Amino acid sequence: MITNNIERIHFDSMNTCHLCMMELENVYEALVLSPEEIDLLDMPKRSFTVHFPVRMDSGKTKMFVGHRVQYNDARGPTKGGIRYHPKLELDGLKNLAFLMALKCALVNIPFGGAKGGIVVDTKKISRGELESITRAYIREISDIMGPFKDIPAPDAYTDENVMVWILDEFERIKGRHVPAIVTGKPIELGGSQVRTISTALGGIFVLEKALQTIEMEVGSPCVAIQGFRNVGKNAAKILHEKGYRICAVSDSSGGIRNVNGIDIPKLIEHKHQTGSVLDFPDTTKISNEELLVSDCGILIPAALSKQIGKDNSADIKAKVILELANAPTTLEASRSLVDRGVLVIPDILANAGGVVVSYFEWIQNLNQDYWKEEKVLERLRYTMTTAFASVHNVCTNQNCSMRRAALQFAIRSILHAERLRGNLQP
Ligand code: NAD
Repeated sequence: MITNNIERIHFDSMNTCHLCMMELENVYEALVLSPEEIDLLDMPKRSFTVHFPVRMDSGKTKMFVGHRVQYNDARGPTKGGIRYHPKLELDGLKNLAFLMALKCALVNIPFGGAKGGIVVDTKKISRGELESITRAYIREISDIMGPFKDIPAPDAYTDENVMVWILDEFERIKGRHVPAIVTGKPIELGGSQVRTISTALGGIFVLEKALQTIEMEVGSPCVAIQGFRNVGKNAAKILHEKGYRICAVSDSSGGIRNVNGIDIPKLIEHKHQTGSVLDFPDTTKISNEELLVSDCGILIPAALSKQIGKDNSADIKAKVILELANAPTTLEASRSLVDRGVLVIPDILANAGGVVVSYFEWIQNLNQDYWKEEKVLERLRYTMTTAFASVHNVCTNQNCSMRRAALQFAIRSILHAERLRGNLQP
């Protein structure tokens, strides 16, 4: 568990914040926001830093630093991941917490945004130490958590095991069961069906709705997918099952291509056995750069940020880009792609399926009523396609990109809630 490249995650999250914040400045301008509105949006409601001792395996005590930012709760309790990283900083978390508030507003689920974590390198500690550090952090922040206050979820270097420790520690402190305190739990402890594929599936629901609504000619029916782990692999599997032809995929070791389509279930088995997608029978080896500009109708970046920039955007052949990764396209590249008619489905919408199913998990926990897979699928489809329709509506009325429209919609929604609460002038 928890084996990704730590440097990469840190770098990616900085890019994600930076790109989103740059576009936000333009959105504020387009919406002609008042100074009061900008002030309200620019500051997190609460941010906490805690320091706590943990007895390590060596018997010595070490001090750790944890943070939690609750950015905006006008629309509901704050919701957002807990990440573990040696370079975790409060400022980065503030931006990511704001992004969560925007994402929840965009898909119209009744949550505000939060983010938090611990400054720790998970590769340098034992599993027992990881558990002790997690439990100690929760003891420090339990007063500011709650199913109607702030609900954590997994993020970089935290997973469902960490969520179980969070649940257990919180319930020990409160002396009762509180399953809705955290999402991303295993099904046996109140997790939701569909959670593991929710990000990929949510994006695909939006993709299909977009293709249907815009009636656009995708050109080559091939799909190319960058990244083949959590999000990319599930996207490939779902699209393959739906009958799409996946003609190129890649992971950190490089890419493979077969214009006639790749057998995805067999490739998943191959990756499981060999650790990479390379050397899969009946495919040609390509580089990651080649994958991005390969002849395909739909391109799905599902790995890193800043993969499509000024150097390669003119060579992109896809007619549709579904941004399942966070910030895979630079703003300049995104604008030039949109200008030449490429449909760029922005990350804030495309990868929101994860938080939507987290919301479903929370509802199921509160009601102690667990849904069948079909119900989760139906409600995820409804939520994602409704969000797409709202964004498309803004795009049509304002003649702007989907990214701009999505941010405008989310900001308006948060400000509307603040206005209803009396925090802004009517
Ligand atoms: P992951 O770590 O499970 O998978 C990342 C994949 O990218 C791996 O297959 C890795 O080999 C590949 N990769 C790394 N470097 C690469 C390179 N240079 N070229 C091509 N592939 C490369 O991560 P994930 O959970 O699948 O997330 C992928 C992206 O989606 C990230 O940007 C993440 O922030 C975003 N995202 C994920 C979720 C989620 O639910 N997991 C939700 C929202 C956004």
